[in-house]
Amino acid sequence: MSSTKIDADIAEAFGRTFVKGNIPEINPVRCMGCRNCVNLCKKLGPNVLDIVDDIAKPVRPNNCIGDGACMLACPTKAIFLMSKYDPSSPPQSI
Ligand code: SF4
Repeated sequence: MSSTKIDADIAEAFGRTFVKGNIPEINPVRCMGCRNCVNLCKKLGPNVLDIVDDIAKPVRPNNCIGDGACMLACPTKAIFLMSKYDPSSPPQSI
């Protein structure tokens, strides 16, 4: 089984649509640095997020399977959408 198939299975098991290439956009005002999204993403496998300067950031965007699990984990709705990852214009933390 390829790793892409496994990634898709993880996304589907979580009831989310598999959209490889999307990464979470995190609202820095709403984020309180609780690590819920960081811990869940790490537990599920992709391990995309970490806390940088007290705010969650997609520090490993190439790992993202775009399933939006982090959105479900956030108590403040700081992660409000998934957007296409553009390596030529990465998020500030990368
Ligand atoms: S779950 Fe939400 S509030 Fe908590 S660290 Fe992640 S983005 Fe920030």
